[in-house]
Amino acid sequence: QTFDELGLSAELLQGLYTEMKFEKPSKIQAETLPMILTPPHRNLIAQAHNGSGKTTCFTLGILSRVNVNEPGTQGLMICPTRELVIQNVGVMQRMGKYTNISIASTADPKYDGYNKEQINGQVVIGTPGRLLRWMREKQLDCSKVNCLVFDEADNMLGTDGHRVDSTKILKHLQMSAKNWQVLLFSATFNEAVKTFATKVVPNANQIFL
Ligand code: AMP
Repeated sequence: QTFDELGLSAELLQGLYTEMKFEKPSKIQAETLPMILTPPHRNLIAQAHNGSGKTTCFTLGILSRVNVNEPGTQGLMICPTRELVIQNVGVMQRMGKYTNISIASTADPKYDGYNKEQINGQVVIGTPGRLLRWMREKQLDCSKVNCLVFDEADNMLGTDGHRVDSTKILKHLQMSAKNWQVLLFSATFNEAVKTFATKVVPNANQIFL
């Protein structure tokens, strides 16, 4: 399999080949990208070990569905820590280098103040507490979101992690957005998290490598 067969834009292919220097999809990418990128864009719960190339799966999932000519937030990525937010912003900036897609994040000092500025990114990446506040205070408009990603889903949905905030974010999207896909990726899924995930993300394809 090659990246060429996935229906990606020329700009995203250039990002993969020229900027990322990837030659062909890894196993998890070959398994998940066709279903992530192809309508009806079904929900997905996927597990693969660290270093397997998961980040590319959900980064392409979000980027491929952004209409660059359309203002407003179309993709949302939720990560358990600020460090991971910064890391995933970096990957997305590189992979999307040849697109003009704008990215905002909760790590951006621009949004630190109290002036309740509108969050201006076609993609928004962040930790759940801050994202939820932005949603509640209407700084972040989710009505155009078509793809929601949970990175390290075991932490995001585990009782010891961000489960309460993640559940609230899902509820907020159910109220504000229309047709959106949820992608849950994690290196580990214990049984309790798996059960909870299948409940909050119904009818999901499941891939466990
Ligand atoms: P990840 O599991 O997403 O953190 O990726 C682990 C590492 O593998 C990162 O350094 C990626 O840049 C690299 N990587 C991901 N996909 C590919 C690929 N298809 N070909 C070569 N390297 C890759």
